[in-house]
Amino acid sequence: MKKIMLTGDRPTGRLHVGHYVGSLKRRVELQNTGDFDEIFIMIADAQALTDNADNPEKVRQNIIEVALDYMACGLDPEKSTLFIQSQIPELCELSFYYMNLVTVSRLQRNPTVKAEIQMRNFEASIPVGFFTYPISQAADITAFKATTVPVGEDQMPMIEQTKEIVHKFNSVYGETLVDPKILLPDNAACLRLPGIDGKAKMSKSLGNCIYLSEEPEDIKKKVFSMFTDPGHIRIEDPGKLEGNTVFTYLDAFCRPEYFPEFLPEYENLDELKAHYQRGGLGDMKVKRFLNNVLQAELEPIRNRRKELQKDIPAIYEVLKKGSEKAEAVAAQTLSEVKAAMKINYFDDEELIKTQAEKFSER
Ligand code: ATP
Ligand code: MG
Repeated sequence: MKKIMLTGDRPTGRLHVGHYVGSLKRRVELQNTGDFDEIFIMIADAQALTDNADNPEKVRQNIIEVALDYMACGLDPEKSTLFIQSQIPELCELSFYYMNLVTVSRLQRNPTVKAEIQMRNFEASIPVGFFTYPISQAADITAFKATTVPVGEDQMPMIEQTKEIVHKFNSVYGETLVDPKILLPDNAACLRLPGIDGKAKMSKSLGNCIYLSEEPEDIKKKVFSMFTDPGHIRIEDPGKLEGNTVFTYLDAFCRPEYFPEFLPEYENLDELKAHYQRGGLGDMKVKRFLNNVLQAELEPIRNRRKELQKDIPAIYEVLKKGSEKAEAVAAQTLSEVKAAMKINYFDDEELIKTQAEKFSER
Protein backbone atom coordinates (compact mmCIF):
# COMPACT_ATOMS: atom_id res chain seq x y z
CA MET A 1 0.00 0.00 0.00
CA LYS A 2 1.18 3.51 -0.79
CA LYS A 3 2.34 5.71 2.07
CA ILE A 4 0.39 8.94 1.95
CA MET A 5 0.50 11.84 4.39
CA LEU A 6 -2.19 14.44 4.82
CA THR A 7 -2.33 17.22 7.35
CA GLY A 8 -3.05 20.92 7.49
CA ASP A 9 -3.70 24.11 9.38
CA ARG A 10 -6.44 26.70 9.59
CA PRO A 11 -5.60 30.09 8.07
CA THR A 12 -6.71 31.97 11.18
CA GLY A 13 -3.31 33.56 11.78
CA ARG A 14 0.39 33.12 11.22
CA LEU A 15 1.73 29.77 12.44
CA HIS A 16 3.26 29.57 15.89
CA VAL A 17 5.84 27.46 17.67
CA GLY A 18 3.07 25.09 18.89
CA HIS A 19 2.35 24.19 15.28
CA TYR A 20 6.04 23.75 14.68
CA VAL A 21 6.70 21.22 17.43
CA GLY A 22 3.22 19.66 17.24
CA SER A 23 3.23 18.83 13.54
CA LEU A 24 5.18 21.04 11.15
CA LYS A 25 8.67 19.92 12.13
CA ARG A 26 7.64 16.27 11.81
CA ARG A 27 6.14 16.86 8.36
CA VAL A 28 9.36 18.38 7.10
CA GLU A 29 11.47 15.53 8.54
CA LEU A 30 9.17 12.93 6.98
CA GLN A 31 9.12 14.81 3.69
CA ASN A 32 12.90 14.75 3.59
CA THR A 33 13.24 11.04 4.37
CA GLY A 34 11.59 10.38 1.01
CA ASP A 35 9.59 7.52 2.60
CA PHE A 36 6.22 8.83 1.48
CA ASP A 37 4.74 8.29 -1.95
CA GLU A 38 2.59 11.41 -1.64
CA ILE A 39 2.38 14.28 0.82
CA PHE A 40 -0.62 16.62 0.92
CA ILE A 41 -0.54 19.74 3.07
CA MET A 42 -3.83 21.59 3.25
CA ILE A 43 -4.64 25.16 4.21
CA ALA A 44 -8.05 24.57 5.79
CA ASP A 45 -9.85 27.77 4.86
CA ALA A 46 -13.30 26.17 4.65
CA GLN A 47 -12.81 24.85 8.16
CA ALA A 48 -11.60 28.26 9.35
CA LEU A 49 -14.83 29.77 8.03
CA THR A 50 -16.91 27.48 10.24
CA ASP A 51 -16.14 29.73 13.19
CA ASN A 52 -15.15 32.86 11.27
CA ALA A 53 -18.09 33.12 8.90
CA ASP A 54 -18.42 36.85 9.50
CA ASN A 55 -14.74 37.50 8.95
CA PRO A 56 -13.83 36.16 5.52
CA GLU A 57 -11.13 38.80 5.09
CA LYS A 58 -9.20 37.34 8.04
CA VAL A 59 -9.19 33.92 6.40
CA ARG A 60 -8.29 35.35 2.99
CA GLN A 61 -5.35 37.36 4.36
CA ASN A 62 -3.93 34.43 6.28
CA ILE A 63 -3.71 31.97 3.38
CA ILE A 64 -0.43 33.49 2.24
CA GLU A 65 0.87 33.80 5.81
CA VAL A 66 0.41 30.08 6.37
CA ALA A 67 1.91 29.21 2.98
CA LEU A 68 4.97 31.36 3.76
CA ASP A 69 5.35 29.69 7.14
CA TYR A 70 5.16 26.27 5.50
CA MET A 71 7.86 26.96 2.99
CA ALA A 72 10.02 28.85 5.50
CA CYS A 73 10.01 25.72 7.68
CA GLY A 74 11.15 23.59 4.78
CA LEU A 75 8.01 22.20 3.15
CA ASP A 76 9.07 21.94 -0.45
CA PRO A 77 6.46 22.17 -3.23
CA GLU A 78 8.61 19.84 -5.31
CA LYS A 79 8.08 17.12 -2.72
CA SER A 80 4.79 18.05 -1.04
CA THR A 81 1.50 19.19 -2.55
CA LEU A 82 0.43 22.42 -0.85
CA PHE A 83 -3.20 23.28 -1.52
CA ILE A 84 -6.26 25.23 -0.38
CA GLN A 85 -9.24 23.27 0.96
CA SER A 86 -12.04 25.38 -0.55
CA GLN A 87 -10.65 24.85 -4.04
CA ILE A 88 -11.50 21.15 -3.85
CA PRO A 89 -15.32 20.96 -4.12
CA GLU A 90 -15.15 17.14 -3.94
CA LEU A 91 -14.45 17.52 -0.22
CA CYS A 92 -17.91 19.04 0.32
CA GLU A 93 -19.56 16.19 -1.54
CA LEU A 94 -17.73 13.59 0.52
CA SER A 95 -18.70 15.38 3.75
CA PHE A 96 -22.33 15.40 2.70
CA TYR A 97 -22.39 11.63 2.25
CA TYR A 98 -20.41 10.95 5.43
CA MET A 99 -22.96 12.96 7.43
CA ASN A 100 -25.36 10.05 7.03
CA LEU A 101 -22.93 7.80 8.90
CA VAL A 102 -22.53 9.92 12.06
CA THR A 103 -25.04 10.67 14.82
CA VAL A 104 -25.59 14.03 16.49
CA SER A 105 -24.85 12.53 19.90
CA ARG A 106 -21.53 11.15 18.62
CA LEU A 107 -20.49 14.65 17.52
CA GLN A 108 -21.64 16.10 20.83
CA ARG A 109 -19.27 13.77 22.66
CA ASN A 110 -16.17 15.03 20.82
CA PRO A 111 -14.04 16.52 23.64
CA THR A 112 -12.06 18.89 21.39
CA VAL A 113 -15.21 20.31 19.81
CA LYS A 114 -16.75 20.64 23.29
CA ALA A 115 -13.74 22.62 24.54
CA GLU A 116 -13.65 24.78 21.41
CA ILE A 117 -17.36 25.60 21.69
CA GLN A 118 -16.80 26.74 25.26
CA MET A 119 -13.72 28.76 24.32
CA ARG A 120 -15.65 30.57 21.57
CA ASN A 121 -18.69 31.19 23.78
CA PHE A 122 -20.90 29.53 21.18
CA GLU A 123 -22.94 27.46 23.65
CA ALA A 124 -26.54 27.92 22.42
CA SER A 125 -25.62 29.28 18.99
CA ILE A 126 -23.19 26.78 17.50
CA PRO A 127 -22.97 27.09 13.72
CA VAL A 128 -23.93 23.75 12.16
CA GLY A 129 -20.79 23.88 10.03
CA PHE A 130 -18.59 24.19 13.11
CA PHE A 131 -20.40 21.40 14.90
CA THR A 132 -19.85 19.07 11.94
CA TYR A 133 -16.23 19.98 11.16
CA PRO A 134 -14.94 16.59 12.38
CA ILE A 135 -16.93 15.09 9.49
CA SER A 136 -15.42 17.46 6.98
CA GLN A 137 -12.01 16.58 8.39
CA ALA A 138 -12.78 12.92 7.69
CA ALA A 139 -13.49 13.94 4.10
CA ASP A 140 -10.12 15.74 3.89
CA ILE A 141 -8.22 12.75 5.19
CA THR A 142 -10.00 10.06 3.18
CA ALA A 143 -10.15 12.03 -0.07
CA PHE A 144 -6.37 11.65 -0.33
CA LYS A 145 -6.37 8.08 1.01
CA ALA A 146 -4.04 9.26 3.76
CA THR A 147 -2.30 6.54 5.74
CA THR A 148 -0.52 8.95 8.12
CA VAL A 149 -1.76 12.15 9.74
CA PRO A 150 0.89 13.99 11.79
CA VAL A 151 -0.92 16.31 14.22
CA GLY A 152 -0.96 17.58 17.80
CA GLU A 153 -2.85 15.84 20.58
CA ASP A 154 -5.98 18.02 20.20
CA GLN A 155 -6.62 16.28 16.89
CA MET A 156 -6.91 12.79 18.39
CA PRO A 157 -10.73 12.85 18.60
CA MET A 158 -10.89 13.96 14.95
CA ILE A 159 -8.82 11.02 13.77
CA GLU A 160 -10.95 8.70 15.92
CA GLN A 161 -14.04 10.10 14.24
CA THR A 162 -12.47 9.63 10.82
CA LYS A 163 -11.62 6.00 11.58
CA GLU A 164 -15.22 5.36 12.65
CA ILE A 165 -16.52 6.84 9.41
CA VAL A 166 -14.06 4.73 7.39
CA HIS A 167 -15.13 1.54 9.17
CA LYS A 168 -18.81 2.33 8.84
CA PHE A 169 -18.50 3.29 5.17
CA ASN A 170 -16.50 0.20 4.29
CA SER A 171 -18.86 -2.12 6.15
CA VAL A 172 -21.98 -0.64 4.54
CA TYR A 173 -20.74 0.04 1.00
CA GLY A 174 -17.74 -2.28 0.65
CA GLU A 175 -14.01 -1.73 1.11
CA THR A 176 -13.35 1.74 -0.38
CA LEU A 177 -11.77 4.11 2.14
CA VAL A 178 -8.32 3.90 3.72
CA ASP A 179 -8.00 3.74 7.51
CA PRO A 180 -5.57 6.52 8.61
CA LYS A 181 -3.06 6.44 11.47
CA ILE A 182 -2.45 9.43 13.71
CA LEU A 183 1.20 10.38 14.23
CA LEU A 184 1.71 12.29 17.47
CA PRO A 185 4.97 13.99 18.49
CA ASP A 186 7.33 11.64 20.38
CA ASN A 187 8.26 14.37 22.81
CA ALA A 188 5.54 14.77 25.50
CA ALA A 189 6.11 18.54 25.75
CA CYS A 190 5.17 18.89 22.08
CA LEU A 191 1.81 17.10 22.24
CA ARG A 192 0.02 20.26 23.31
CA LEU A 193 2.44 23.12 23.80
CA PRO A 194 0.99 25.61 26.30
CA GLY A 195 0.67 29.31 25.52
CA ILE A 196 3.07 31.84 27.06
CA ASP A 197 0.37 32.46 29.69
CA GLY A 198 0.81 28.82 30.77
CA LYS A 199 -2.97 28.41 30.89
CA ALA A 200 -4.13 26.62 27.79
CA LYS A 201 -2.72 25.25 24.55
CA MET A 202 -0.94 27.80 22.45
CA SER A 203 -3.59 28.78 19.92
CA LYS A 204 -4.01 31.48 17.32
CA SER A 205 -7.48 32.15 18.67
CA LEU A 206 -6.21 32.79 22.22
CA GLY A 207 -3.48 35.34 21.53
CA ASN A 208 -0.92 33.49 23.67
CA CYS A 209 1.50 32.61 20.87
CA ILE A 210 5.08 33.00 19.81
CA TYR A 211 4.86 33.12 16.03
CA LEU A 212 7.40 31.49 13.75
CA SER A 213 7.93 34.83 12.03
CA GLU A 214 8.28 36.81 15.28
CA GLU A 215 11.02 39.48 15.36
CA PRO A 216 13.90 38.88 17.83
CA GLU A 217 12.83 41.71 20.16
CA ASP A 218 9.29 40.33 20.40
CA ILE A 219 10.50 36.79 21.06
CA LYS A 220 12.56 38.17 23.91
CA LYS A 221 9.67 40.19 25.36
CA LYS A 222 7.38 37.17 25.23
CA VAL A 223 9.94 34.85 26.82
CA PHE A 224 10.58 37.29 29.64
CA SER A 225 6.84 37.65 30.30
CA MET A 226 6.35 33.89 30.46
CA PHE A 227 4.58 32.07 33.24
CA THR A 228 6.88 30.13 35.61
CA ASP A 229 6.38 28.82 39.15
CA PRO A 230 4.48 31.46 41.14
CA GLY A 231 5.88 29.98 44.39
CA HIS A 232 9.48 30.55 43.25
CA ILE A 233 9.91 34.07 44.60
CA ARG A 234 13.54 34.34 45.74
CA ILE A 235 16.41 32.76 43.85
CA GLU A 236 17.23 30.45 46.75
CA ASP A 237 13.66 29.06 46.90
CA PRO A 238 13.16 25.56 45.47
CA GLY A 239 11.25 25.75 42.18
CA LYS A 240 8.63 23.51 40.59
CA LEU A 241 8.87 22.12 37.06
CA GLU A 242 5.25 20.94 36.66
CA GLY A 243 3.22 23.60 34.93
CA ASN A 244 6.34 25.75 34.56
CA THR A 245 6.03 26.92 30.97
CA VAL A 246 9.68 27.94 30.61
CA PHE A 247 10.79 24.39 31.33
CA THR A 248 8.09 22.92 29.11
CA TYR A 249 9.47 25.04 26.27
CA LEU A 250 13.00 23.92 27.05
CA ASP A 251 11.78 20.31 26.90
CA ALA A 252 10.27 21.07 23.50
CA PHE A 253 13.07 23.11 21.91
CA CYS A 254 16.39 22.56 23.67
CA ARG A 255 19.10 20.58 21.89
CA PRO A 256 22.25 19.28 23.62
CA GLU A 257 24.49 21.62 21.60
CA TYR A 258 22.78 24.70 23.10
CA PHE A 259 24.44 24.07 26.49
CA PRO A 260 28.08 24.55 25.41
CA GLU A 261 26.91 27.46 23.26
CA PHE A 262 24.70 29.40 25.69
CA LEU A 263 24.97 27.90 29.18
CA PRO A 264 28.31 26.06 29.48
CA GLU A 265 28.16 25.82 33.31
CA TYR A 266 25.52 23.07 32.92
CA GLU A 267 25.99 19.72 31.15
CA ASN A 268 22.39 19.26 30.11
CA LEU A 269 18.73 19.98 30.81
CA ASP A 270 18.50 17.46 33.65
CA GLU A 271 21.24 19.30 35.54
CA LEU A 272 19.53 22.63 35.01
CA LYS A 273 16.21 21.21 36.20
CA ALA A 274 17.79 19.64 39.29
CA HIS A 275 19.36 22.98 40.26
CA TYR A 276 16.04 24.77 39.82
CA GLN A 277 14.24 22.23 42.00
CA ARG A 278 16.91 22.44 44.70
CA GLY A 279 16.82 26.21 44.79
CA GLY A 280 19.51 28.73 43.89
CA LEU A 281 18.64 29.18 40.23
CA GLY A 282 16.69 32.30 39.24
CA ASP A 283 13.93 32.46 36.63
CA MET A 284 15.76 35.20 34.75
CA LYS A 285 18.73 32.98 34.04
CA VAL A 286 16.50 30.19 32.71
CA LYS A 287 14.54 32.68 30.61
CA ARG A 288 17.74 34.13 29.15
CA PHE A 289 18.74 30.61 28.13
CA LEU A 290 15.32 29.86 26.63
CA ASN A 291 15.45 33.14 24.74
CA ASN A 292 18.80 32.13 23.22
CA VAL A 293 17.41 28.72 22.30
CA LEU A 294 14.30 30.13 20.63
CA GLN A 295 16.29 32.81 18.82
CA ALA A 296 18.58 30.11 17.42
CA GLU A 297 15.62 27.94 16.35
CA LEU A 298 13.58 30.72 14.77
CA GLU A 299 16.25 32.83 13.07
CA PRO A 300 16.71 30.58 10.02
CA ILE A 301 12.93 30.22 9.59
CA ARG A 302 12.43 34.00 9.78
CA ASN A 303 15.23 34.63 7.29
CA ARG A 304 13.90 32.12 4.79
CA ARG A 305 10.45 33.65 5.13
CA LYS A 306 11.84 37.09 4.33
CA GLU A 307 13.40 35.68 1.17
CA LEU A 308 10.15 33.97 0.14
CA GLN A 309 8.16 37.17 0.76
CA LYS A 310 10.01 38.80 -2.13
CA ASP A 311 7.99 36.77 -4.65
CA ILE A 312 4.41 36.50 -3.42
CA PRO A 313 2.90 35.68 -6.85
CA ALA A 314 5.15 32.61 -6.98
CA ILE A 315 3.65 31.38 -3.69
CA TYR A 316 0.11 31.77 -5.03
CA GLU A 317 1.21 29.84 -8.11
CA VAL A 318 2.46 27.00 -5.89
CA LEU A 319 -0.95 26.89 -4.18
CA LYS A 320 -2.82 26.99 -7.47
CA LYS A 321 -0.80 24.13 -8.97
CA GLY A 322 -1.09 22.18 -5.70
CA SER A 323 -4.86 22.70 -5.61
CA GLU A 324 -5.20 21.43 -9.19
CA LYS A 325 -3.22 18.33 -8.39
CA ALA A 326 -5.14 17.75 -5.15
CA GLU A 327 -8.47 18.13 -6.89
CA ALA A 328 -7.63 15.41 -9.40
CA VAL A 329 -6.83 13.00 -6.55
CA ALA A 330 -9.99 13.89 -4.60
CA ALA A 331 -12.10 13.48 -7.75
CA GLN A 332 -10.80 9.95 -8.21
CA THR A 333 -11.72 9.04 -4.62
CA LEU A 334 -15.13 10.66 -4.97
CA SER A 335 -15.86 8.61 -8.05
CA GLU A 336 -14.95 5.44 -6.14
CA VAL A 337 -17.17 6.55 -3.25
CA LYS A 338 -20.09 7.25 -5.57
CA ALA A 339 -19.67 3.90 -7.26
CA ALA A 340 -19.63 2.15 -3.87
CA MET A 341 -22.76 4.06 -2.85
CA LYS A 342 -24.46 3.18 -6.13
CA ILE A 343 -24.94 6.78 -7.20
CA ASN A 344 -22.81 6.53 -10.33
CA TYR A 345 -25.80 6.04 -12.66
CA PHE A 346 -24.33 7.32 -15.89
CA ASP A 347 -21.02 5.44 -15.58
CA ASP A 348 -22.82 2.18 -15.00
CA GLU A 349 -23.50 0.61 -18.37
CA GLU A 350 -24.75 -2.57 -16.73
CA LEU A 351 -27.44 -0.60 -14.88
CA ILE A 352 -28.67 1.07 -18.06
CA LYS A 353 -28.66 -2.21 -19.95
CA THR A 354 -30.57 -4.18 -17.30
CA GLN A 355 -33.09 -1.38 -16.87
CA ALA A 356 -33.59 -1.29 -20.64
CA GLU A 357 -34.19 -5.06 -20.64
CA LYS A 358 -36.57 -4.82 -17.69
CA PHE A 359 -38.66 -2.18 -19.40
CA SER A 360 -38.66 -3.93 -22.76
CA GLU A 361 -40.28 -6.93 -21.04
CA ARG A 362 -43.15 -4.81 -19.65
P1 ATP B 1 -7.18 27.89 15.94
O1 ATP B 1 -7.09 28.59 17.24
O2 ATP B 1 -7.67 28.73 14.79
O3 ATP B 1 -7.88 26.55 16.03
P2 ATP B 1 -4.68 26.56 16.26
O4 ATP B 1 -3.57 27.37 16.82
O5 ATP B 1 -5.40 25.59 17.15
O6 ATP B 1 -5.68 27.56 15.55
P3 ATP B 1 -4.85 24.72 14.07
O7 ATP B 1 -4.75 25.24 12.68
O8 ATP B 1 -6.19 24.38 14.62
O9 ATP B 1 -4.11 25.75 15.02
O10 ATP B 1 -3.92 23.41 14.23
C1 ATP B 1 -3.03 22.97 13.22
C2 ATP B 1 -2.16 21.84 13.70
O11 ATP B 1 -1.25 22.27 14.71
C3 ATP B 1 -2.91 20.65 14.29
O12 ATP B 1 -2.23 19.48 13.93
C4 ATP B 1 -2.79 20.86 15.78
O13 ATP B 1 -2.84 19.64 16.49
C5 ATP B 1 -1.39 21.46 15.87
N1 ATP B 1 -1.29 22.37 17.02
C6 ATP B 1 -1.95 23.54 17.18
N2 ATP B 1 -1.64 24.10 18.35
C7 ATP B 1 -0.76 23.26 18.96
C8 ATP B 1 -0.06 23.29 20.21
N3 ATP B 1 -0.21 24.29 21.05
N4 ATP B 1 0.78 22.24 20.50
C9 ATP B 1 0.93 21.21 19.64
N5 ATP B 1 0.30 21.13 18.45
C10 ATP B 1 -0.53 22.15 18.10
MG1 MG C 1 -7.21 24.52 16.40
